[in-house]
Amino acid sequence: MHKIVAQLLKGEFPEKEGLKELLSFPTHPAWEVLKQAARHVRKRYYGTDVYIRGLIEFTNICKNDCYYCGIRKSNQKAERYRLTLKQVLSCCKTGYRLGFRTFVLQGGEDGYFTDEKLCLYVAQIRKRYPDCAITLSVGERSRESYQKLFDAGANRYLLRHETANSGHYAKLHPSELALKHRMQCLSDLKQIGFQTGCGFMVGSPFQTLDNLIEDLEFLVQFQPEMVGIGPFIPHCDTPFADEPAGTLEMTVNLLSIIRLLLPKVLLPATTALGTIDPNGRELGILAGANVVMPNLSPIAVRKKYLLYNNKISTGAEAAESLADLKQRMERIGYQVVTSRGDYPKE
Ligand code: SAM
Repeated sequence: MHKIVAQLLKGEFPEKEGLKELLSFPTHPAWEVLKQAARHVRKRYYGTDVYIRGLIEFTNICKNDCYYCGIRKSNQKAERYRLTLKQVLSCCKTGYRLGFRTFVLQGGEDGYFTDEKLCLYVAQIRKRYPDCAITLSVGERSRESYQKLFDAGANRYLLRHETANSGHYAKLHPSELALKHRMQCLSDLKQIGFQTGCGFMVGSPFQTLDNLIEDLEFLVQFQPEMVGIGPFIPHCDTPFADEPAGTLEMTVNLLSIIRLLLPKVLLPATTALGTIDPNGRELGILAGANVVMPNLSPIAVRKKYLLYNNKISTGAEAAESLADLKQRMERIGYQVVTSRGDYPKE
């Protein structure tokens, strides 16, 4: 165990068998050492700053049928919605006033959003908020489409790879979806010049420790600017309704490892982490995360973007939630900052 910890502290990818053993003891005292080291590395690049990203969940209509996801097309119980450009711009306006300098447009793979329509949304935000970053998270599209979105003014793209093992990928998705295509999308995004984010769910059904090690290897090889990980949480109207959720410990431990392996990465303490534990986001920050993504979507639609059961959604106005989040961060010695929070160049 000592050897593995020493390798991780140097930022080296550890010897696999040892790493597997360490991962199999999520409450081992070595994790405290790793968490502390992860905090230290995070402070080297980001001090105690926490970047905020305003999340706008602008459509829950999706053509895909991912087995884990509450907004999959087969879920007849999901109440579908799509935000108009006017509604999205109103979310941005509220967010900008509150100090958000990144807007994240996330949604299902909704055929309504042709390149033309989505580029219009991006271009209108870009025109009004030239000093803000625009992040998209709208799934798999063609390289040409990604290029058009980039040219329209989007800067960042989040596309979790979900799992780096194609056999595991096939257990989480129907056969129309393939890991190879997802990886192609990630590579296209990076080549086009997007700050690119990948990531995976922790504790997704059928996930093994070997799979997690493959995920970590992929991260090191791909060198993303952002990594989104959060626990898998079941949704009652999906094929995985009865599967157990991922754990807080495992997620937090993996955040630390990711910070040590990718020191400069932008790493959110995700909503899913805040959902499985009331202090999940704080514990994520204390494990090396440096980003939080409060919800800027209109209150009326928040409960409809239900990827998993009990997703935190206080029903509070964005201003109130942000004030709460600021306090939470201050209590643990960190502060929310108003800045774009780009990936550091040096
Ligand atoms: N459609 C886009 C895509 O595929 O990237 C973006 C939206 S998708 C709903 C965003 C992420 O939610 C997925 O990448 C997945 O990892 C996560 N997610 C979906 N269902 C989940 C669940 N039951 N528990 C935890 N995370 C989930």
